[in-house]
Amino acid sequence: MSSTSKAPKNAKKSSLKDRGNLFDIAMAQVEKAADVVGLAPKVRAILAQPKNELIINFPVQMDDGSWKMFKGYRVQHNNLLGPYKGGMRYHHEANLDEMKALASWMTYKSALHDIPFGGGKGGVRVNPSTLSAREKERLTRRFTHALGDNIGPEWDIPAPDVGTDGQVMVWMMDTYMNVAGYSDKNAVRRVVTGKTIHSGGSHGRSEATGLGLVYCIEEWAKDAELDLDGCTFTVQGFGNVGSHLANLLTKRGAVLVGTGDHGGYIANPEGLNPHKLRQYMAKTGTVAKYQGAKEISREEFFGLECDIFIPAALELEIGPDEAKSLKCKMIAEGANGPTYPEAESILKERGIEVIPDVLANSGGVVVSYFEWLQNKRSERWELEEVREKLHRRMSSTYRAVRQCATQRKLDMRTATYVIALERLQHSYSERGIFP
Ligand code: GLU
Repeated sequence: MSSTSKAPKNAKKSSLKDRGNLFDIAMAQVEKAADVVGLAPKVRAILAQPKNELIINFPVQMDDGSWKMFKGYRVQHNNLLGPYKGGMRYHHEANLDEMKALASWMTYKSALHDIPFGGGKGGVRVNPSTLSAREKERLTRRFTHALGDNIGPEWDIPAPDVGTDGQVMVWMMDTYMNVAGYSDKNAVRRVVTGKTIHSGGSHGRSEATGLGLVYCIEEWAKDAELDLDGCTFTVQGFGNVGSHLANLLTKRGAVLVGTGDHGGYIANPEGLNPHKLRQYMAKTGTVAKYQGAKEISREEFFGLECDIFIPAALELEIGPDEAKSLKCKMIAEGANGPTYPEAESILKERGIEVIPDVLANSGGVVVSYFEWLQNKRSERWELEEVREKLHRRMSSTYRAVRQCATQRKLDMRTATYVIALERLQHSYSERGIFP
């Protein structure tokens, strides 16, 4: 486990594949915590690589009648504590090393919360905005069929991620159900989570990652003695995570002063209305050129004065340059892996605290677990019940991480991994390996 990746000065100038090996970065983060824990070499060796890495090349018929080949992935990092669990991403830069990193982060998210899941991640290398709805459906069904028994309700359970949503999950579920034995059809609906409400999804799942972030921010604000009512924040990325987060934080009195995505960046020191922004985004596909806000550059966005900055776009957006220009008190990582290690040390020097991805954005997988449980028990929980249960888990896990960080003098990221690694180590040392 060693990091060979170097951050470009300005993270955005390069495409994802030029930004270094994400899996090396993920492993370096774990390595630091493994030293604190005194992780046994044999457990380090197991966690240093995924158990299974699957690449599937499959054809899809396009609307014009042509056939096109696509590359699909599913990486299964670890299933010691329960079935592999994690999202399916549709993105034109999806690649194996990225999937490996994302899958490993899922292992640590589940272990951190002590939920009975392991870690996995997958997806298809495609720009979903170039597909018609019918093409997206055919691609999803063909990919799911090609995955066959590599997914399953007690084996590997996909969920939404970048470029996928509840509808994509419902197509996956339906495809899997239709090849499952006739009498098992309904029993297997928990093969995916993040489904729409009508097709077996849980109330509160689509807002869950954003709400989980808010619960973490509330805990942090108590410690920092900051009143969320009237504090300012910026969000990079206004997709499912960013838009829900902005809405929920605004309801608590915080003011959204800047946001942006692949289309461009905007700012308004008087505050942006997340509800209207979301409606605008649904029409145009970007927040850029939203009326009632000033257009700004990416550099200006990272220099905006605010209390809290929430990266909620893709990985590796905060390089050394961004870390130097940020003018916030705290960063809550809505995205997975948004911060380069070099940037992290600059933030530390500057006294900017980071609530790490594995903790901050774990509300999604927590409510996925609730959905899986509801399906298994043929239950439907009310929205308030889901929110209350999520609140309890996020705040108690946040407190455990904070306590570990304080007692052992660690940053929050390392403390997060320490808790997860200790759980995994205990289980490995009791169970050993077979035979
Ligand atoms: N894709 C989400 C994540 O990165 C959710 C995973 C899940 O619900 O299984 O955490």
